[in-house]
Amino acid sequence: MNDDLDTANSVEFETDSDEAPRRRFELEETGFREVPKRWRKFYRLWDGPGDTLAPNEVICPVCKVVIRSHRELRPGDRVYCMPCMSRLVVARGPDGGLIADVLY
Ligand SMILES: [Zn+2]
Repeated sequence: MNDDLDTANSVEFETDSDEAPRRRFELEETGFREVPKRWRKFYRLWDGPGDTLAPNEVICPVCKVVIRSHRELRPGDRVYCMPCMSRLVVARGPDGGLIADVLY
């Protein structure tokens, strides 16, 4: 049975140009309960200052949930925060890390 449904709309990407290949990530169940079960692996709770984001993760600026992708995230990627229904775009933050801005 094929339960790998990551082609659905949880995470959207701009088309790849000639940029370097992105690392891919296996997503495991995170226990995040605010979205239907098949989407839970795309989200997790932020643990606070001691937590660190992986290259495939970005924090939703609206609800502070961590959004996770099967692929390394880069500035310009569009992601969707299902828990608060925000459309976001990934950007480079002032400290060099990835942040997400709300798309209007
Ligand atoms: Zn959110």
